[in-house]
Amino acid sequence: MKTINVTRSSMPDLDEYIDEIKDLFDSHWLTNMGEKHQKLEKELESMLNVKHVTLYTNGHLALEGIWEAYNFPKGSEVITTPFTFVSTTHAISRSGLIPVFCDIDPNSYCIDPNKIEQLITPKTVAICPVHVYGYLCDVDKIALIAKKYNLKVIYDAAHAFGVKYNGKSSASFGDVSMFSFHATKVFNTIEGGALCYNDDSLVGVLNDLKNFGIHGPEDVNYIGGNAKMNEFQASMGLCNLRHLDREILKRKRVVEEYKKRLGGVKGIKLLDYSDSIQPNYAYFPVIFDGFKDRDSIFSELKKNNIIARKYFYPLTNSVKCYKKFENANPEKTPVAKYVSERVLTLPLYADLTIDEVNMICDIILK
Ligand SMILES: *Cc1c(COP(=O)(O)O)cnc(C)c1O
Repeated sequence: MKTINVTRSSMPDLDEYIDEIKDLFDSHWLTNMGEKHQKLEKELESMLNVKHVTLYTNGHLALEGIWEAYNFPKGSEVITTPFTFVSTTHAISRSGLIPVFCDIDPNSYCIDPNKIEQLITPKTVAICPVHVYGYLCDVDKIALIAKKYNLKVIYDAAHAFGVKYNGKSSASFGDVSMFSFHATKVFNTIEGGALCYNDDSLVGVLNDLKNFGIHGPEDVNYIGGNAKMNEFQASMGLCNLRHLDREILKRKRVVEEYKKRLGGVKGIKLLDYSDSIQPNYAYFPVIFDGFKDRDSIFSELKKNNIIARKYFYPLTNSVKCYKKFENANPEKTPVAKYVSERVLTLPLYADLTIDEVNMICDIILK
């Protein structure tokens, strides 16, 4: 029996990719911010309607990059949520900052803006919310809190590429937004990531961080690392970008079919987008709340070679490596705990067929 994975990477036709990388075989210029890298940055700036895009070899190093660039005192606190991929929490911790876990909103699964203020202390320097599943956080309320307390807002927008809120690009909120272009995301560069921002003063340092702080053959003026997106990755991005709208439409068709079958079933809760959000259909989360228990559905699907994911489970405030943090306690984020124990993201990708969606739903509803 064919295996249906939770996702399947979008790829251009082989001919299109070969066409795109032909130049590289002529020039032998494979990395170091070559033509493809520069072209992709420009195309993304215009598509996302943001002044600056800095590309990285993956989204995680982009996140670490922005924390390093802001250079907050070690031990400063960042308010974030545990209902995310470990990368968000790791990037904060690896930068010498303390993740402070805020609970999530029960409908959007994003940070609950009404619970942020009570976590602010004199050590708080920033808020790092996550646009979970491509739903957007309450960006307006978060902006008000950030202004009142003079905090930076760094959005982990890894799930939200191409999403809009009242016609505005998801890249335009907060001080900086990070996108991941990992193979499993709606738009991929194989591995890849980007920081999007409007502050001109960040450009230099964010470039230094990805290329050793090198300014010229004999001129190194920053202790930077290496996190450059290479030309083959950028070429993949240039190709995939041409098909993004079509990919999102195909995902929408899958989501609509799932909703037809699972919407309205007692004990099953689906993510309901507000009309002001134009989604990218990145994930299809289902909360099993009184229907059957999540783990038994997961196993039943697995028996049929259908791989769903408990995404996000466990919470980042309950994984082993954060046990030593005294504030890492899932009991303090009860909504996140509740959701993480009941959620399953079902297979969703552009080429998933309607028949396959129906087969998956038949197994769930059986
Ligand atoms: C994918 C992802 C990341 C990390 O991105 P990589 O490109 O895989 O390094 C960070 N945060 C979230 C929420 C993600 O889903």
